[in-house]
Amino acid sequence: MKHRNPDKCVACSTCVVQCPVAEVTSKFLGPRMTGPASERFRLLNAGEDESLSYCANCKNCNISCPQGVDVANINMLARTRYSREHRPSFRDWILAHGELEADLVRFFPSSLVNFGMVNPLTKFVLDAIGISKKADLPTFARDQFPALFKSYRQPTLHKKVVFFPGCYIKAYAPETGIDLVWLLNRAGYNVIYPENFCCCGTPLYTNGFEKDARKNAAVNLLELKKWREEGIPVLSLCPSCQLMFRSEIPIYFPELAEELDGKTALDDAQEFILSCIEKGELPLAGAEQNKLDVMYHAPCHLRAQGIGMPGLELLKKLPGVHAVNADAGCCGISGSYGFKKEKYDIGMAVGSQLFRTIKDSGIEQVATDCGTCRVQIMHGTGHPVAHPLNILRRRLDTTRR
Ligand code: SF4
Ligand code: SF4
Repeated sequence: MKHRNPDKCVACSTCVVQCPVAEVTSKFLGPRMTGPASERFRLLNAGEDESLSYCANCKNCNISCPQGVDVANINMLARTRYSREHRPSFRDWILAHGELEADLVRFFPSSLVNFGMVNPLTKFVLDAIGISKKADLPTFARDQFPALFKSYRQPTLHKKVVFFPGCYIKAYAPETGIDLVWLLNRAGYNVIYPENFCCCGTPLYTNGFEKDARKNAAVNLLELKKWREEGIPVLSLCPSCQLMFRSEIPIYFPELAEELDGKTALDDAQEFILSCIEKGELPLAGAEQNKLDVMYHAPCHLRAQGIGMPGLELLKKLPGVHAVNADAGCCGISGSYGFKKEKYDIGMAVGSQLFRTIKDSGIEQVATDCGTCRVQIMHGTGHPVAHPLNILRRRLDTTRR
């Protein structure tokens, strides 16, 4: 049980020690001060401190607090109240509305769009509006997930699952969604992708666009309810989408969550694949046996859910694969936080321990479940970073060898 009552805080400072942002910058007052301590003043309408915007919403304070104080959401809710009265910047609008931008760029060749994003002039303009020119932004896929899924031929199968891709897989990493479809088909499941599903709302809410996030939550929950009533599991691959559905929607939009009796959580696709392996539906016999060393990074939003590390478990089950947990903290990106000009250096400093661990390990292959963690780790290390399911498919699919 998590509390947002500031009086539950006993000022032990455990969260301060675990906060990756407070560790690297004095611009942030830290979780205890910005969270429960400031909340008492907020209750007296004492105004807001600029330091609040430096909270990365990574949830490490929540994971560590022995009193179960929901520091991260004390901060998020305070930011939302602030943004109701102070319009977010154009930069934050751009970073929040990636799905809308992806819908628009579909009509242009992706090579042109991506060249447009990386050329020095665009970088200069982005920097001028507050997106760091030093950051590597994710690039749009040539064909986005809806188009790839439409043209993908699934065999006739009777067992069914629904897939919620989220905006990252939809626009930037559709091949990971297709790898999941391939694996589920092989395990005997037909995959349904309802096009009504939209971005989970995390980038919208964290950047101050509460109304847009509520709209998305309403659409997504209506669709989720429909499949719940049909008794078909709805799977997700993105830790931040899962966290939004499981824990944030019931806090941010309780009236919407009530429609589902508060049971808004999606199923974790990798846990589902693990259960297929355990039930013998997805045999690993015949998987490529060549030795592969993988270092796995657990995204903060996965750890915050308390569901273990299904991606790491999957990798450990693969014949020939030796997977280890990097266990080196946050990568520093926190969605779009590390792309922001005033936060880029903080994000890189936060991720430096992880980058060093990866570089010092000498390991070639890195894996993580989160799309933006992947971008940040590649940016910070130069190492290739895959989703665990990319590796699973590569080793099972003989046409990929
Ligand atoms: S860890 Fe929890 S109880 Fe301790 S200072 Fe932080 S919020 Fe308060
Ligand atoms: S959410 Fe992360 S950055 Fe924000 S206070 Fe908690 S630990 Fe620090």
